[in-house]
Amino acid sequence: MNTPLSLLPEISVVIPAYNEGEGVDRALATIAGILQTVSAAWEILVIDDGSRDNTYARVCRYAQTESRVRGVSFSRNFGKEAALLAGLKYSRGRAVVAIDADLQHPPELIPDMIAKWREGAKIVHAVKRSRKTDSVGKRLAALAVNQIISRMGGINIHNSSDYKLLDREIVDILVGQLPERERFFRGLSSWIGFNEEYIEFDVSNRIENESKWSFWSLVELSITALTSFTSVPLRIVTFLGLLTLVLGFAVASEALWSWYHGQAVSGFATIIITLLLIGSFIMISLGIIGEYIAKIYEEIKARPPYLVKSTVGIADEKLA
Ligand code: UDP
Ligand code: MG
Repeated sequence: MNTPLSLLPEISVVIPAYNEGEGVDRALATIAGILQTVSAAWEILVIDDGSRDNTYARVCRYAQTESRVRGVSFSRNFGKEAALLAGLKYSRGRAVVAIDADLQHPPELIPDMIAKWREGAKIVHAVKRSRKTDSVGKRLAALAVNQIISRMGGINIHNSSDYKLLDREIVDILVGQLPERERFFRGLSSWIGFNEEYIEFDVSNRIENESKWSFWSLVELSITALTSFTSVPLRIVTFLGLLTLVLGFAVASEALWSWYHGQAVSGFATIIITLLLIGSFIMISLGIIGEYIAKIYEEIKARPPYLVKSTVGIADEKLA
């Protein structure tokens, strides 16, 4: 980039938005108001993740009067992870804050995050103090997935969210040095390490419409999270195999013993149960292996994680 350093923003705020037409103006106004108080040079980047509503049109209109608001529009819905990645790529600030478009991540925290960053933190994680707005099922599922990933992957993502501030150094690592296509932003930013700080917050209620995550998209995110951070499930397959082997030996010895002592080997039920058990072990194992193969397949195709349809307020050189 040829822009002189002095013109670069100090703070970039990245907002992934999918069908957020109803709330995006308010989010932009609120966040811009807060940024105004903490930094002289800032920018807000809205990544329209292929919305079907007027999200992008509103961003464009906003950008006409406020040149520090910029927008990128995807050719279709590529998912929040892709939107976050694009946001990081297009951002130019010395620090980059990722925040949701629905104001469920309280923007009032931004000044605290920036303060911590100015004190030397490279990553400031906003951590959910409560998940009151989530259903019991979603809370339990999140607990389980976070627990498993934290245990197996050796990183701490308990109650973490995608609401984070990252120093330019971290952004450059995330964008430039981690070539994986399927990403789990939350996990990756913990995995990097460096000087991390935490701020707690309460998730507020969504003002407009519904959460954009369907049940299956959450399942998919969990599988991505697991497969990108740990290969322990593959070891579980090996373990299941060993377990069946030991059980097999035990049952076989018992059968031989009975046969040797002249008793007929009995137990149709035992056979059926064993068959079914082993059958399901095999199927589950194949499934687990399949998930990892699918992951390899996705990575090896090396398709771009997103395609940009148009941008507003962004110099063309960055489109490449
Ligand atoms: N989002 C996105 N692409 C998607 C789904 C969601 O960019 O495919 C954005 C959405 O606009 C919002 C953020 O990701 O800014 C979080 O989404 P949501 O509020 O629906 O999720 P939740 O708060 O339930 O985690
Ligand atoms: Mg939300």
